[in-house]
Amino acid sequence: MEKIYQATIARWGIDAQYDQAIEECAELITALKHFKRGKISQQEVIDELADATLMLGQLRWMFGHDQVEVAISKKLEKLRELLDQDEKG
Ligand SMILES: [Mg+2]
Repeated sequence: MEKIYQATIARWGIDAQYDQAIEECAELITALKHFKRGKISQQEVIDELADATLMLGQLRWMFGHDQVEVAISKKLEKLRELLDQDEKG
């Protein structure tokens, strides 16, 4: 994957990757809204999810895989705490 991410930036540049990520996230948002209203199929959501996932992988590589991993761990820990509170309360 790393080679693909590098090649993508070499071909189109960093700014284009930001724009592409924004566009794919927006398409996923739209697909989910349409799916909720029964206007599109599950497969169409899956396709947009695949696009967004690829772009998130690209961004993750650009911003630093390890730093993102640390941030994810912190957020998962907070989520666990929230779930624990709900179970107790
Ligand atoms: Mg798309």
